[in-house]
Amino acid sequence: MEIQKPWLRHYPKEIPHEITIEEKPLYDYLQQAAAEFPTNTAIHFLGKTLSYTELYDQSLKLANYLQSLGLQKDDRVSIMLPNCPQAVIAYYGVLLAGGIVVQTNPLYMERELEYQLKDSQSTFIVTLDLLYPRVSKMKALTNLKHIIITGIKDYLPFPKNLLYPFVQKKQKKLVVKIEHQGDTHLFKKIIELSEPIVDLPESNPAEDIALLQYTGGTTGFPKGAMLTHKNIIANTKMCSSWMYKSRRGKESMLGIVPLFHVYGMTTLLNLSVMQGYKMILLPKFDATETLKTIQKLKPTLFPGAPTIYIALLNHPDIKKYDLSSIDCCISGSAPLPLDVQERFEEVTGGLLIEGYGLTEASPVTHANFFWDKRKAGSIGVPWPNTDSAILSYESGGIAEVNELGEIIVRGPQVMKGYWNKKEETEATLKDDWLLTGDVGYMDEEGYFYIVDRKKDVIIAGGFNVYPREIEEVLYEHEKVQEVVVAGVPDPYRGETVKAYIVLKNNENATPEEFNEYARKHLATYKVPHIYEFREELPKTAVGKILRRVLIEEEHAKYKNA
Ligand code: AMP
Repeated sequence: MEIQKPWLRHYPKEIPHEITIEEKPLYDYLQQAAAEFPTNTAIHFLGKTLSYTELYDQSLKLANYLQSLGLQKDDRVSIMLPNCPQAVIAYYGVLLAGGIVVQTNPLYMERELEYQLKDSQSTFIVTLDLLYPRVSKMKALTNLKHIIITGIKDYLPFPKNLLYPFVQKKQKKLVVKIEHQGDTHLFKKIIELSEPIVDLPESNPAEDIALLQYTGGTTGFPKGAMLTHKNIIANTKMCSSWMYKSRRGKESMLGIVPLFHVYGMTTLLNLSVMQGYKMILLPKFDATETLKTIQKLKPTLFPGAPTIYIALLNHPDIKKYDLSSIDCCISGSAPLPLDVQERFEEVTGGLLIEGYGLTEASPVTHANFFWDKRKAGSIGVPWPNTDSAILSYESGGIAEVNELGEIIVRGPQVMKGYWNKKEETEATLKDDWLLTGDVGYMDEEGYFYIVDRKKDVIIAGGFNVYPREIEEVLYEHEKVQEVVVAGVPDPYRGETVKAYIVLKNNENATPEEFNEYARKHLATYKVPHIYEFREELPKTAVGKILRRVLIEEEHAKYKNA
C-alpha cells in the first residue's frame, strides 16, 4: 500500500529519515559500553553504584552459570524482579547465554505466573527471595527446572516502604532463608563463584528472539510478543536519533518505569546502555522518593507515563525541590493532558513530549519532536524508518486526511509475531502492517491523533488491564451469575477498573467481599476499584454483553458531574 508521508517535511536536519540498523545481537552494546566507558556508572540504585565494567562482568558470570546448568540457545528464562541492578544483570546474562528473556511482572499472583510460565515454556526463572514462596510452587505446575534467587540484601538494604507491593503487607519476615542447592541457586553465590567467560551463541539478529513481552494485544488473554534483537535495536536507535542533543556517555536516566514493561526495557535496559548513560533505578514509584532522587542525583532524562507526572505535580511540596536537572521526558502509554505537560515543563524547565507505541512495536512508533514543532493533543509523527497510516473503516483502504480509522504501522521495530499464536498473529500483522487496535486520524501535516481504542484493554495508571482476565476470576466466585469488567474515567489514573456483577438468585454480596476475593487471585493493579451490582447487563441480540454501552454511560456521568 502506497502512503503519503507529510510528516517528513517537519523533520529537522539532525534526524535522518532512515537510520542504519546494525545486524548484531543486543548484548553487543553492553560490550561496547564496557570498552568505551569502563568506569562510568551504569546503574545507581539507592546509594549503591555499578560501573559498566562491573555490569558486563557480572552479566557474563550469570551467563556462564546459566550455560553450566544446561541452558541452550532460545531457552526461555523468566525475569521476575522489580527495578534493581539484578534485573539488568539478569537481562544481559540471559541474552549473553543465548536465552530468551520472558519479562514477568513481580506483582503476579500464582494464577498469572502459572499461565505465563506455561505459555512461554520457561525452564528458568530469576526472582527475588521474597517471591520464592509463590515461585517455588510453580515447579510442580509448569516446566520450570531452575530457580535463581536474589536476596533483597544482595545489593543493599531495600527500604521497606519501597518494597511493597512486591511483598504481601502481612508478610512480616522480610529476609527469607534459602539454600544454594539442587534446583535453587543463589544469585550472590553465582557472582562469587562463576568465571566471566561465555560461549557466545551463534546469532541471527533479524530472526533470533531476544524477549517475549506479554500483552493482551487487541483481545483477550496475554500473548508473548516475539521481539527480535533487531526489533529492539531498531527502536533504541530511533529513540537515540530523536534525542539528538543528548550527549553520549554523559546523560543520566531516571528509571521509574518498570524494566519488565516494554517502555522501561527500551529506554533503560537498552537506550541507556547503548549510549553509556547512567540509569538511576527506583524499585517502585513513590512521589516523595522520586522528588528527593531528582534533587540529589540530578537525572537529565526521565521517561514516564502521565500518572507519574501527575502524581509529582500533585505533591504538596513539589516547589521545594530543585528539579532543574531534567532536560527531556517522553510520556507514553496514555494520553498526556496538556495542562500536565505545561505545568511539568514549568517546574522542571525541561521538555516533556508525548509519544505513542505498543508492545508489538518494541514499543515506540510516534512522538512529538523535542526541539521542533509539536502539537498539543497529538501523539506526534512517525519515527525514522517507520511508516504509519490510517485504515479507513469506510473504504478498507488508506483513509483521507482527518478521516477516522485504525492506526497501522510498519517498520523494523514491529514484532515477529505472537509466540505460538498463529491465528492472532495473522489477525494483527497484515501485509507487513501492524494493526494497532487504536482509532485515530492524521492531519494534513502528518501529525497523528488517538481518539479511541478498538481493543478492550483498560489502561489504569499506566498499567494494562485486560477485562477478560478479571472476568474469568470473578466468574469463578460462587455468587456470580454474570459479570463484565470495564475501564471507567478516573481523574488520577486516567481509567479505573470497574466490575458490573449480576448475582445468582437469592444471593447477597458486598463490594468488600469481592475485593477481598479478587486480591487473592489478581495482582493489585488489576483488582477492581468499583463494584456495581445489577439486575441485568446490556446485551446484543445474540446475547453478547455490551461493555461499550456501560463505558459510554460512565463517560456521560463523568462529563455531567
Ligand atoms: P502497551 O502494549 O502496554 O505498550 O500498550 C499500548 C497501548 O497503549 C496502545 O495501543 C494505546 O492504546 C495506548 N497508548 C500508548 N501511548 C498512548 C498515547 N500517547 N495516547 C493514548 N494512548 C496511548
